[in-house]
Amino acid sequence: MAWADLLQPPSAATFLSLLALLEAVLPGQRVSGVELADGTRIIYKCNGLLSLVVLLALLGAAVPPTVLADRGPELFSTTLTLCVLLSIVLCLTGYASKSPSSSLKCQSSGNALHDWWFGLQLNPQFLTIDIKFFWIKAGMISWLLINFSIASKQIEQAGFLTLPMALYQVFCTIYVLDFLWYEEYMTSTWDIIAEKFGFMLIFGDMVWIPFTFSIQGWWLLHNNAEITRMAAFLNALVFLAGYAIFRGANKQKHEFKKNPKAPIWGKPPVLIGGKLLVSGYWGIARHCNYLGDLLLALSFSLPCGTSSIVPYFYPIYLFILLVWRERRDEARCRAKYKAVWEEYCKAVPWRIFPRIY
Ligand code: NDP
Repeated sequence: MAWADLLQPPSAATFLSLLALLEAVLPGQRVSGVELADGTRIIYKCNGLLSLVVLLALLGAAVPPTVLADRGPELFSTTLTLCVLLSIVLCLTGYASKSPSSSLKCQSSGNALHDWWFGLQLNPQFLTIDIKFFWIKAGMISWLLINFSIASKQIEQAGFLTLPMALYQVFCTIYVLDFLWYEEYMTSTWDIIAEKFGFMLIFGDMVWIPFTFSIQGWWLLHNNAEITRMAAFLNALVFLAGYAIFRGANKQKHEFKKNPKAPIWGKPPVLIGGKLLVSGYWGIARHCNYLGDLLLALSFSLPCGTSSIVPYFYPIYLFILLVWRERRDEARCRAKYKAVWEEYCKAVPWRIFPRIY
């Protein structure tokens, strides 16, 4: 068998099996997740960055770097098929689960389509792997691999990377590497603590993220974009501002959850009801982390210029998603924290954009 066959359909299954194997065998920090409704905590293994390095070494030695750029449509269809199959299997095993007190707590909505779309299981496990935690990482790594392949394709075609392509690649690569570096922080995010693992998340992580977040790269491969040095500089500023807010806000919240006395910007944290952080970014807007992410998304598209709206798909989509998500999170927090949440809303009236929304 040629190694190149690894990326032939059904490539997604092979890629995921290889990544899962690396996750299982490579060493990694063990992190305790947030307390679940039944009082238990899941122990997550964080070795995404190491898995990526080994995966890149294996693939780099074995397959042409342009293979993903050359096989986009096949990859898309096999990955989609895999997601449909996984979501059906998890839905059926969710119905079959007979342990309502465990972390696999499954409550049917009474509507099979709803159960399949939103999922039944909060933390499905397979052997030693938490499937949801793994799946998000795998989606981010897939996005990076597709980007690398697109860059290789441009080098093959043009002999060099254009400035817009280089900017897009550098920004996205930093974003994904940062995500893996701070993998532990994912354990306190909404997807992990509150969202069940249904088709919506399965598809979102493994098809939507790699195939739509890379639209700018595909677009730059097939279109000419010119960017001045000043525009590139401003673009880099948008990226840096987004990164500082995004990472800063997520870091503050995660460290607060681990140690509620950890200083924020050099001062003791200010809390509401002893539970909610009201200092740092969390005192500027209730979801400053979303603002940072939106600026980052914009910075990934700006290298493409303004001749087409197509490369702006990601920031537009993310804007809609995060506004909707903020509303859903708000409802969850209001139900959970009750009067404390109302007090927080009075102290910090802005949802995402300070002084605007
Ligand atoms: P958050 O990380 O913002 O987590 C929300 C939770 O944080 C709440 O449910 C609540 O949980 C807790 N919380 C809220 N306010 C406070 C406060 N003031 N003090 C302490 N705890 C608080 O949500 P997400 O998981 O949605 O986002 C994580 C990151 O992922 C964001 O940066 C987002 O932009 C990014 N993201 C990116 C997407 C993409 O497609 N690029 C998609 C979705 C998210 P608790 O019950 O624990 O208190």
